[in-house]
Amino acid sequence: MKIQKGEWYFTVQCKSCDVTIYFSHDPSRGKIEIAAHQDSVIKVTCPACQAVDEYDRGELFSREVKYI
Ligand SMILES: [Zn+2]
Repeated sequence: MKIQKGEWYFTVQCKSCDVTIYFSHDPSRGKIEIAAHQDSVIKVTCPACQAVDEYDRGELFSREVKYI
C-alpha cells in the first residue's frame, strides 16, 4: 500500500517496537468511528520489526499522515 501525505489511514501501534503501522486507507478522513465493540481481530505484520501481532478493532485508529 502506498502511503501518501495528507491522506488518512487506519493505523495500529506495533506491540513490539511501538511504531505506527498504516493498516488501510480511510476514505472518510477520520469521520467514521471505528466500531470498538466489534471483536473482529486483525493480523498485521510490522514493516519495521516484522513482528506479526493481532489487534482488535479497539486498537485501530484513524490518523492523517503529516509526514512520511
Ligand atoms: Zn514493530
